[in-house]
Amino acid sequence: MSQPQPRKLFVTTALPYANGAFHIGHIMEYIQADIWVRFQRMQGNEVNFVGADDAHGAPIMIAAEKAGVTPQEFVARIAAGRKQYLDGFHIAFDNWHSTDGPENHQLSQDIYRRLRDGAKLISVKTVEQFFDPVKSMFLPDRYIKGECPKCHAKDQYGDSCEVCGAVYAATELINPYSTLTGATPVMKSSEHYFFRLSDPKCRDFLREWALDDKRLQPEVANKAREWLEGDDGLGDWDISRDAPYFGIEIPDAPGKYFYVWLDAPIGYLASLKNYFARTGRDYDAFMADPATEQYHFIGKDITYFHTLFWPAMLHFAGLKVPNNVFVHGFITVSGEKMSKSRGTGISPLRYLEVGMNPEWLRYYIAAKLSAKVEDVDFNPEDFIARVNSDLIGKYVNIASRAAGFITKRFDGRLASGWASAADPFLARLREAGASIQALYEGREYGKALRAVMEEADAVNAYVDANKPWELAKNPENGALLQEVCSRLIEAFRILTIYLKPVLPALAQQVETLLNIEPLQWSDVGTPLPTGHRINTYSHLMTRVEPKMLDALFDAPAAPAAAPTDEAPAAAGIEPLAPEIKIDDFAKIDLRIALIVDCAAVDGSDKLLRLTLDVGEGRMRNVFSGIKSSYDPAQLVGKLTVLVANLAPRKMKFGISEGMVLAASASDEKADPGIYILNPWPGAKPGMRIR
Ligand SMILES: [Zn+2]
Repeated sequence: MSQPQPRKLFVTTALPYANGAFHIGHIMEYIQADIWVRFQRMQGNEVNFVGADDAHGAPIMIAAEKAGVTPQEFVARIAAGRKQYLDGFHIAFDNWHSTDGPENHQLSQDIYRRLRDGAKLISVKTVEQFFDPVKSMFLPDRYIKGECPKCHAKDQYGDSCEVCGAVYAATELINPYSTLTGATPVMKSSEHYFFRLSDPKCRDFLREWALDDKRLQPEVANKAREWLEGDDGLGDWDISRDAPYFGIEIPDAPGKYFYVWLDAPIGYLASLKNYFARTGRDYDAFMADPATEQYHFIGKDITYFHTLFWPAMLHFAGLKVPNNVFVHGFITVSGEKMSKSRGTGISPLRYLEVGMNPEWLRYYIAAKLSAKVEDVDFNPEDFIARVNSDLIGKYVNIASRAAGFITKRFDGRLASGWASAADPFLARLREAGASIQALYEGREYGKALRAVMEEADAVNAYVDANKPWELAKNPENGALLQEVCSRLIEAFRILTIYLKPVLPALAQQVETLLNIEPLQWSDVGTPLPTGHRINTYSHLMTRVEPKMLDALFDAPAAPAAAPTDEAPAAAGIEPLAPEIKIDDFAKIDLRIALIVDCAAVDGSDKLLRLTLDVGEGRMRNVFSGIKSSYDPAQLVGKLTVLVANLAPRKMKFGISEGMVLAASASDEKADPGIYILNPWPGAKPGMRIR
């Protein structure tokens, strides 16, 4: 018998930008990759699964400055919050690192030198760019605003207009200003370094890698074809930024740093290198081995970087190129798209906090994922139905129906002689394994789970045909009852193997119940020994309660005292809340916010929509129940106080990213007014209140 050689895999997810907590889109990608990784491990393959924080770039530099810390400290704070999400959803990276680690500095500079000296693909050009004379820095487009040259909407970003959708160069804005200082930017020239993607040898290589080898998903290959064969061809890529910049210095170019997008993907290699050093393994040998396979799971928004720049950089630096890039769509909540700029939809932490089982989400997301670049919609009703009727109703119930009889009636012992190889009921289940295996390999998780549920249906039909609860009524049927239940336990074991990549914690509980070693895929064909003894059944998984989903999506408490059935405190003020420690207070991050815009909300008689600048280099959208007390125009340009680290909440009208503080009387009838806070002059957006 010759076993195939185990594969050697290097798998990554996209690196999250280290300026905020994970949102549900990150969690979906990590679940997708984690399922594939766990599946590969169950095949006996070696998998090295790594991630890292994408630490560099102007937004982090500016956010850190506003927070009064170094960029390194800022990134470290964000990184410290990662574990609770990853552990919470059973996402088991082997290593989590940072693109600011020493490995990435060294690898990025080394790759650059190879591209410059070996491949001769680096050139230098003088570029004219907006410069903030107050801050003494070149301004990325996102830090320039002005009047749209097309529709004349005010306060539009330097690359496109949110009102009319026009796309333009920052230099076309009317009355441009720096969002960092308000200063009028001036044009200034500077030398920039370019990766010459326009060189015909890049195009030739990419055509082969992206098109000829048929590795990419068809939609992704079509995009790559547009880029490669388009009339404009491939443009050179500006890979440098001027100081001040938080990044990696370009060798032999004082004051120049790599643009964050150059060193971010190299962070994949850096995290692997860090992992290998930590575990005493040889990184260079692993990456030089032609048998090593390299895969990246990414979202569709970063396809360009991963199918053009990244393979070209690696190839012309003489390094291994990715075997494939697996692109997925976005996650939406009942049709509404979520992205970094629009908010975060379901808060992953809130999901865990309201007591929802992480494996419900893993199962639901897996059931909706395919190998296509499709968006995944989170629909609460569908979620409840799939978890309760498929996962619990069809799968978990098999164990609860069979294991109880085995423990109570037969001291936990399975029957003898029940598992003959020819048993057609079990043979059918085992034969399904090959196609389920192929579906997981091809990331067709939805189809894989449908196939598993078809097998679960067959098992449930066997239950209904043999009615163990009827057999149990007559002691003369004891042997038959034991045999039927033993067969069901074996069927449940096989289904558990098929579900284990998606449900690792549940599979572990099943392994304990069945009193067996961790299940591998090859165990499909090895039945439990006759007479094997299982442990006492305890509840494996509960059903989803619809009220949990209400809690997941409910509206934030209005800043005004919510109407309550309880009588208000009789004398003047409402009773004080229980005493807290200073540490409790420190958990609440209160910030000065500038109300940049304020508008009524169609369809709501309570809410105003506030556009707030909290000094983060982006605007926040916050809904506040203050319409009864303020005209929107009164508030524009005023400073107020925002609870800035409150988990974003999805409301009927959109995502609310925080809560504005306001005072109100406990007795609305005595004083219906709502009074928002306003700091003394001198306070600036982003300042923390302590
Ligand atoms: Zn416009």
